[in-house]
Amino acid sequence: MTDKEIEEELQKMFEINYESLKLQGGHSLTPEVRDAAWNQVLYYFKKLRKVVAEKVSKTEVKLTLPEQETPAGRRFTIEGIVDIVTENEETWMYDIKTHEAGFIEKHKEMYEQQLNVYAYIWEHLQGNKLDHTAIISTVLPSGLRNALRDRPIIPEKVKSEADKWNPVVPLAFSQKKIKETIREFGAVVDDIEAGEFKPATPEELDTADGGKVKFVTRYCIMCDGRFSCSSYRKYVAKTTGRSQADFKRYYSVYDDETAQTDYILSNLNMDIINMEFDKPE
Ligand code: SF4
Repeated sequence: MTDKEIEEELQKMFEINYESLKLQGGHSLTPEVRDAAWNQVLYYFKKLRKVVAEKVSKTEVKLTLPEQETPAGRRFTIEGIVDIVTENEETWMYDIKTHEAGFIEKHKEMYEQQLNVYAYIWEHLQGNKLDHTAIISTVLPSGLRNALRDRPIIPEKVKSEADKWNPVVPLAFSQKKIKETIREFGAVVDDIEAGEFKPATPEELDTADGGKVKFVTRYCIMCDGRFSCSSYRKYVAKTTGRSQADFKRYYSVYDDETAQTDYILSNLNMDIINMEFDKPE
């Protein structure tokens, strides 16, 4: 298959997926958001094709650590999905994240904890070899997103931004803190089971916790519960000047306004990401 034929095939798969998600979820995307989603798929494929996609030996490998106990004595199981690449007698374990590569680089320790547990299961419980671990970031960097949004598009600029992008972030792996990480997972299970879901306050969201990145950027923009979180909604309303009615519409309207609201909400998130990542160090 030529590159063009592969891209055409990918686009057909993207359209089928989109139509199926639209039927399941009951709402659609604006042309701008849909184009951005397609560009993400296309450029992710172009970038990762040689590095990982054509070399992957095992994909979507399910790793399970059963029969763990929380600090309060509850039983729980840890599960994860990774991709494995073996090349030149070296084995890599990749975890795929929808987070910016720059963010992952700056907060490697957060990702190392989780991947170390997967590495432990892979090596010690399943008896496999492992030499390296890494995160693959699926998010296009802001420079490339902006170049793709330019009208007219300048191909040289798109190419230059795509060439600069490095979505693979290697991590150090160590099994020293495995017990501590599993205990922390267990403490979260206890909180969930006890119904303790109190969010950070809006003031805490606006605070950088030790580094330069605010809580809202470090945690909230990746949190699936953000649109129903009172602190996040107050923070976004305050910092973007948008009304909380935008959020209310998200819940109450499932008609032709939905696409517009999806677009607004996508941009609310991008506002916050750009505010944090585009500011000088
Ligand atoms: S959006 Fe999520 S991470 Fe942020 S305060 Fe609310 S619950 Fe916590």
